[in-house]
Amino acid sequence: MKIKDILARDKVTLSFEVFPPKKGMPFEPIVTAVDRLCQSRPDFMSVTYGAGGGTGHNTVKIASHVQNELGVTALAHLSCVSSTREQVSEAIAEIKAAGIENILALRGDIPQGASAGDYPVGEYYRYASDLVQEIKRQGDFCIGAACYPEGHIECAHKEDDIANLKIKVDSGVDFLTTQMFFDNNILYNFLYRIRERGITVPVIAGIMPITNGKQIAHVTELSGTYVPTRFKAIVDKFGDNPAAMKQAGIAYATEQIIDLVANGVKAIHIYTMNKPDVAESIRSNLSCIIGDEQ
Ligand code: FAD
Repeated sequence: MKIKDILARDKVTLSFEVFPPKKGMPFEPIVTAVDRLCQSRPDFMSVTYGAGGGTGHNTVKIASHVQNELGVTALAHLSCVSSTREQVSEAIAEIKAAGIENILALRGDIPQGASAGDYPVGEYYRYASDLVQEIKRQGDFCIGAACYPEGHIECAHKEDDIANLKIKVDSGVDFLTTQMFFDNNILYNFLYRIRERGITVPVIAGIMPITNGKQIAHVTELSGTYVPTRFKAIVDKFGDNPAAMKQAGIAYATEQIIDLVANGVKAIHIYTMNKPDVAESIRSNLSCIIGDEQ
C-alpha cells in the first residue's frame, strides 16, 4: 500500500523506524526485533539506509521481510550522496523488484573527510530533489523526503532551507518526515512557516525516545537538535540510572505525542532504535489516544 493513502485516512497514524544490520553483522537479532515491532501493527515501518551506501541490500532485505512476510507496509530509505547514478538506479530497481512501493529519498550525509566536490554532478546526484526525480522516472512509487524543523545543519538560514524544501517537494514528494525534535513548539512553528510557503504535503512528526543518557549527547551532536531545559534536567537526574532513564524517556516521548495529537498532528513516526520494548510501551501508553486497531 502507498503511504500517501495511509496518511489520507481519517485517523492518527503511528509508524516505526528500524535500521538494518551493518555490513558483516548478523541478521538474526535485527529480524527478531523487527518481528516483535511488527506485532504492534504499525501503520508502516521504515528501514534506514546505511551512511556510505554499504548496506543498501540489507535495507531492501529487511523492508521486503516487513512487507512480504509480516504484512506491514514498508518504506525503504535510499540515499544518493556517495553512490553513482548507476548504483542508485540499480538500488531503485532492487526496491521495485521486491514489491516495495514507498521510498524515502535522501541525499545522505557527506562521508567524513570528503566534500561535495568529491562527487561530480555528472556522475552523482547532488540533492535529494534530484533523487526524487530519478525515482519518479523509474516507476510509480510513493516518495517521502526528510525535513528539519530546526533547519538542516549545513544550511545557515532556516528560510533558505525551507526554500530548498519547497524545491524538493515540488520535484514530486508525497510526504515529509521530520528530524527528531524535543520541543513541540519548534514543530508547530515550522508547520506554520512551510504552509505559508505553499508546502502542503502531509508531515509526519519524528519522535526519538531517549532511553539512555549517552544517546542524547550523540544525537544532538549529529543533528544540532535543541534540548529543552526540562529534558536536560531529566537526563542530568536519571542519565546514570538506565532503568530510570528508560522510564523517563518513554514518558517524555509519550507526553510529546499526546500534545502533538491534541494539537492536530495526524502522523507520528517513532525512531525505535530497534528496541521493541520501548516502542511497545509507548504504543500501549497511547492505546486510547490513537486507538489499538492499526
Ligand atoms: P537535501 O534535501 O538534499 O538537503 C541537503 C542540504 O542541501 C540542506 O542543507 C538543504 O538546504 C540544501 N539544499 C537542498 N536542495 C538545494 C538546492 N536546490 N540548492 C541549494 N541547496 C540545497 N541518512 C542516511 O544516511 N540514511 C538514512 O536512512 C537516513 N534517514 C533519515 C530519515 C529522516 C526522517 C531524516 C530527517 C534524516 C535521515 N537521514 C538519513 C539523514 C540525512 O541523510 C541527512 O540529514 C543529510 O545530511 C541530508 O539529507 P536530505 O535528504 O535532507 O538532503
